[in-house]
Amino acid sequence: MVNNKTDILIYGAGIAGLWLFHTLKRSGYDVLLLEKNFIGGGQSIASQGIIHSGLKYTLAGKVSPLARAIGAMPDRWREALNGSGPVDLSPAKNKVFSQNLLIPSGPLGGLVETLGKTALGSTKKIPAAQWPSGVTSSGFDGTLMEMGEPVLDIPAVICALAKPYKNSIRKNNNATIEAKLTIYTAAAGNEPAAKQNGHAAGLETQKRPLLMGLMKNAPFVLHAHFVGPSEKPVATITTHKTKDGALIWYVGGAVAERAKDSDPSEVYTAIRKAFAKYMPSLDLSAIQWASFPIDRIEGKSKTGGWLPDTPTIHEAGNALYCWPTKLTFAPLLANMVMKKIENAGIKPSSQQTTDWSFLPEADYATAPWDSVKWTKDNSGKQG
Ligand SMILES: Cc1cc2nc3c(=O)[nH]c(=O)nc-3n(C[C@H](O)[C@H](O)[C@H](O)COP(=O)(O)OP(=O)(O)OC[C@H]3O[C@@H](n4cnc5c(N)ncnc54)[C@H](O)[C@@H]3O)c2cc1C
Repeated sequence: MVNNKTDILIYGAGIAGLWLFHTLKRSGYDVLLLEKNFIGGGQSIASQGIIHSGLKYTLAGKVSPLARAIGAMPDRWREALNGSGPVDLSPAKNKVFSQNLLIPSGPLGGLVETLGKTALGSTKKIPAAQWPSGVTSSGFDGTLMEMGEPVLDIPAVICALAKPYKNSIRKNNNATIEAKLTIYTAAAGNEPAAKQNGHAAGLETQKRPLLMGLMKNAPFVLHAHFVGPSEKPVATITTHKTKDGALIWYVGGAVAERAKDSDPSEVYTAIRKAFAKYMPSLDLSAIQWASFPIDRIEGKSKTGGWLPDTPTIHEAGNALYCWPTKLTFAPLLANMVMKKIENAGIKPSSQQTTDWSFLPEADYATAPWDSVKWTKDNSGKQG
């Protein structure tokens, strides 16, 4: 007869579930992580992987509660990337520990002063003589700042979290599992599960759609926000590599804030416009284009902001329903859950890790840049 008992059962192997699972495993708990689709999640594998220091949320000149809560997170991630925290991400390759703010000359220049004064994050102005050659030759005219915010290679991070304990990550086939506590980190899957379990009273979530832009054959490595007049950057660009080695610019920010079923050429045109303003000498003629529609899902903001200031946990019966709000917050969410586990008196079991091989294996998710269809997009105009 198979053993179907465990200390902790987690549903959903995005960053929230994986970080928590890895933490619990390293603390000696017997844990089973069940995933409906692929290890790496829906949003997590599609995220830009920026570990915010809160600075992005001070761009309008005020320090919001979200900015304050997020300020401690880069240190947690740096510890993990260096292998010195409760989670070991040291095997994750392609470590990037800073990114840039491009602030155009003109009225926004005053922002530099604000950024200089804010206590959040570490920023420094880069003298023009030390700009990366790609930025210099792009025709950018303004202030270039460096921020101490890591940018993650998400597929590598997911693998570092999952691989050491892969036998305890399985495909969810609705097998009956007994656990002392069940934790849902299933994003859009949390609410249906709560309804099914009779736990939905008081639970409210929100979805924010994006149509992300992807640019293949990018001319150089760039991790940067194009800073505009509002709190949301005009564009946020991170650089990734496809499995066959092509350089990709993955573009979010205001250009991507639109309905998922918008015409992709709208995103390409918005991106071209942003580059025409911030990097006017850049030749985009070799670029191939793609778009990627996705929803961000989180607990409903109760403070009037466009997203909650911290992770959300909905507690009901013997279950926790969790949303990190940002990938950045995965360590904070795990700490919040660990406290609840300790307060409930659930101790690591003395039994050996259960053999879950009677459940189907789960495969890793594919990054958007390895799954989208590319087009030349001659429809979008520069400028
Ligand atoms: C385009 C984009 C860019 C982003 N960029 C950033 C960024 O740069 N920095 C940042 O901090 N945040 C960013 N975010 C936000 C961040 O990605 C999310 O907050 C975070 O990834 C959510 O993690 P999660 O584990 O809760 O959800 P997900 O990654 O969506 O994972 C949920 C998992 O649960 C599984 N699941 C669903 N139902 C079930 C079920 N019944 N049983 C088992 N499993 C189930 C799903 O298949 C999925 O694998 C971005 C989001 C998007 C969409």
